[in-house]
Parts: sequence; C-alpha cells; structure tokens
Amino acid sequence: MSLPINSDLWQSTLNWTPSEFQQSQFQQLYTEVLSGNQRLNLTRITSPEEFWEKHLWDSLRGFFPGAYLDLNQSQKLIDIGTGAGFPGLPLAIAQPTWDFNLVDSTRKKIQFVHETIQTLKLPNVRCFVERAEALGQDSRHREQYDIATIRAVATATVCAEYCIPLLKVGGTAILYRGQWTEYEQDELNAALEQLGSELLHCETFVTPLTESRRTCLILRKSFPTHPFYPRAIGIPTQKPLSSTPITEFD
Ligand code: SAH
Repeated sequence: MSLPINSDLWQSTLNWTPSEFQQSQFQQLYTEVLSGNQRLNLTRITSPEEFWEKHLWDSLRGFFPGAYLDLNQSQKLIDIGTGAGFPGLPLAIAQPTWDFNLVDSTRKKIQFVHETIQTLKLPNVRCFVERAEALGQDSRHREQYDIATIRAVATATVCAEYCIPLLKVGGTAILYRGQWTEYEQDELNAALEQLGSELLHCETFVTPLTESRRTCLILRKSFPTHPFYPRAIGIPTQKPLSSTPITEFD
C-alpha cells in the first residue's frame, strides 16, 4: 500500500517537506511496519492515511516548527519506550545528521527496530533493550543527551522522571501527549521541581486529517539531577513523584 505524499500539508502545518528520498524512506518504514505487524503486535494504526497522520506527522510535530530547538545544530537524542520506533524513526529520517538512540524494555520490539534500521540503512540510529530507570543510573547514559523524546509510555510525571536524568544540563525533553488537563499540569510541575527541570512550553494542537487533539510538553533541564533519580525499576509508576515526600533523600 502507498502512503499519501501530502507535500502541501507538510509544508503548511510544519513548514517542512520531506525530500523524495525521505518520502521513499517513509514508504519503506510503512512497508516494514505492515509486514512486522503480521508476526508481532506492533500497532493498530495500519491504513495509509492513519499511518501518515498518527505515526509520521505526529512524530515530526514534536520538532517542527521548532522555535525551542536548534534544528541546524547536530544533537544527540534518546527516544524512550520507542515501541516499533516512534517517534524515533521518523525523526531520524528527517534529521539524518543527528545521533539517535532508540530504547525499549521489550526485546521483540527492539529486534524489529534493529531489522528496520538495517533495511532502511539508517547509519545515524542505534537501538537497545533497557529500562529507562536503569539507563538513568548508568554513567554511559546519564546526563549524556541533548534531547529526550517519549510518546505514549506513562503519565507525564513518570515520563519526566525517565527523561530528565538522561539529559545534559540545558537539554530538552519532548513529551508527546493526547489530552492534557490542569490536574496533570499541577502534578507535573511538582515533579519537575524535584527533578531540577521546568516546563518551557505546553503546545496544544489538532492533527491535520482527523483533527484529534494532541499536546506537546517541552521541558528544559536547568540543574544536574539529584543521584536519587530515577528511582529503582517500577518505583516511578508505583509511587509517582508528586506524592513522594522530598525528605526521603534530604
Ligand atoms: N512510543 C511508541 C510506543 C508506545 S507503547 C509509540 O508511540 O508508538 C509503550 C512502550 O514503552 C512499550 O513498547 C513498552 O515496552 C515501553 N516501556 C514502558 N515502560 C518502559 C520503561 N520503563 N523503560 C523502557 N521502555 C518502557
């Protein structure tokens, strides 16, 4: 099945258009996901229009229009809970000079991503199986990244605890959300204070084909993360930060 090209839509919504080569890589990615879906339960989003909107456009919306990111400077990025490679793979196709690291705790998903990286010949991407909580305490990954992305993995508070320790001071986390409420924002702000980070930007928008509501939260890491974070595997989801007394490590 062929993906729609939608050049005008890319241009009018994101002020960016894929080159012919990037378009062919998007098509290859789609073909890989469809065939991978026959063996593995990767995604429910399979029609060409849906794939274009919910996997390609939505992934790239986190970057463009990117007033808060310097798209011209090379960046080291980590995509946490990448699943079948979203938003990491579309972003890596769009920014071929950046260094992409795609992580998931499920081995069969990373196996799929690995095969896809080989098929699409993406030299700027590597992938590995790991938990975000373990990476955040591993000196090879802690405070090593300029950008962290995370889509559909956990609540915003948990996503912040996964992402922030991996960022360099001054780095940016992009949290891809669906609906967004004031309650979630209050919870997130409490967590960000503990993580030495701040909410720079909260952008709500609709997707261009089905007008589904989406929110992108842009976080900036202001201070080094206390060694206490991220907490042990499973704790961020069991005891979300905002309800954890800060005195635990004081
Ligand atoms: N980001 C993808 C997949 C979302 S599904 C997309 O938007 O399509 C959520 C994924 O997060 C799953 O593949 C799951 O294995 C992974 N995940 C959940 N908790 C994780 C953790 N603590 N560390 C690493 N990966 C995790």
